[in-house]
Amino acid sequence: MLSPDLHIHTFHCGHATGTMEETVLSAVAVGLPEIGFSDHFPYPAGFSAPAPDCVIPSLEEFRVYAAEVRRLREAYAGRIVIRFAAEVDYLEGWGERQAAILEPFEFDYTIGSIHIVKQAAVDYREDVLLSAADEWGGVEAAWDLYWDAMEAMIRGGGFHIVGHFDLLKKYPGGVSVRNHEERVRSLFAAMKSSGLVLELNTGGVDRASDRAPYPSVRLLRLAAECGVEVTLGSDAHAPGDVGRHFADAARLLRSLGWTHTVGFENGEKQYHPIPG
Ligand SMILES: [Zn+2]
Ligand SMILES: [Zn+2]
Repeated sequence: MLSPDLHIHTFHCGHATGTMEETVLSAVAVGLPEIGFSDHFPYPAGFSAPAPDCVIPSLEEFRVYAAEVRRLREAYAGRIVIRFAAEVDYLEGWGERQAAILEPFEFDYTIGSIHIVKQAAVDYREDVLLSAADEWGGVEAAWDLYWDAMEAMIRGGGFHIVGHFDLLKKYPGGVSVRNHEERVRSLFAAMKSSGLVLELNTGGVDRASDRAPYPSVRLLRLAAECGVEVTLGSDAHAPGDVGRHFADAARLLRSLGWTHTVGFENGEKQYHPIPG
């Protein structure tokens, strides 16, 4: 038995592969009791995307994705629980309008993530990150701007889970040499007081420069000390990615003192014992 996998993409976003049904079958095969499709929500009208194929391109296509989640939920009832969600980009100044656009979808939950800092897609290509960082005064300045955006996202609310918390470590050139403890503690305290859940994103094991989940163990330990709740997500971009590295992740979470991960139904938290 594995913990629910709440972070899964589909071909609708333009940079993931396989059919959604293949993803469900893969999840059943690896023993996941529950998954949540959380594909990239479209950018707001008029927003010019800093990179191609980052999100589901339109609300029309997003509705097609939504309908397929509903169909699969019915078709596989009794074999696996399927939740309907979205990963939503935090974009400066878009908070209130965003809530009104998200609401009619009646998501089980939403993941708030920062992929764009000041119009630069920071997880798209290393050279894109580094040239933006140059403009801002270096990689450490990029981290300061990233944390500023994180703070604004957390304070703005309107979502349930904070995705890949320290994403800038994805590329070797984005790794910071500073100790971010003070800043991160204040972010975790804000998350704790508003009930936001931290994602342990196992995609980092395959994709991040340090071959470790987001957030890094050092930051995860701070989250445990701050009493922040956690969820697990593979950030799957192919059917075979679902549940990846979840046994290791479960061991890590237990070693830091967590006993449960969080899932969501209609926005309500559910607590799942961490196996092991
Ligand atoms: Zn993401
Ligand atoms: Zn994602």
